[in-house]
Amino acid sequence: MKLVIASNNKGKIAEYKQMLSPLGYEVMSQSETGITLDAEETGSTFEENAAIKARALFEAAHCNVLADDSGLVIDALGGQPGVYSARYGGVPDSEGRNALVLEKMKDVPENERTARFVAVIHFIFEDGGEVSVRGECEGSIGYAPQGDNGFGYDPIFMYEGKSFAQHTQQFKNSVSHRGKALEKLIAAIKKENEEK
Ligand code: IMP
Repeated sequence: MKLVIASNNKGKIAEYKQMLSPLGYEVMSQSETGITLDAEETGSTFEENAAIKARALFEAAHCNVLADDSGLVIDALGGQPGVYSARYGGVPDSEGRNALVLEKMKDVPENERTARFVAVIHFIFEDGGEVSVRGECEGSIGYAPQGDNGFGYDPIFMYEGKSFAQHTQQFKNSVSHRGKALEKLIAAIKKENEEK
């Protein structure tokens, strides 16, 4: 069974391959299938954006497809950067976006610095059935970027005393929003396939 992922990010594709191949899927990136598509993320929630991307790909690929959407939700900033995580404040690079968040949070006391990473995965089966799953990872915003592992907001996201960029990739995968969403997705796919 062919499964096309609505992404060309090598790290993401590798993770999906590793987790979903055991279920019998031949996992491939969008570009590997020759589909050039960049659906506009016009939704106001992670669920809407993941669904928009998955449905656009399904129209083009007519097989099992998967799309995800993720970001950082900070309580003291009213949920920002949220669905705008990748382009927060129009700042083009991660370092700049992290600096912007830290600046906005500079007067926020420790007990109000709560935040979470959110990931939503939208899967469409080849028969058109759809499933959406959400994973969250609770943490808080630090006071300065720390650590060299990871990407994006990892250096300012504190989890169990260290930033995500100071934890190992293996540890991060075991507690992360994306890891949790993937676990739920695997359970949902198994259930769906059993009922067929
Ligand atoms: P997308 O889901 O690929 O559109 O990514 C959204 C944005 O959220 C990324 O560009 C990152 O800025 C941020 N993000 C999502 N997941 C993580 C993570 O695990 N660590 C750090 N930043 C993340």
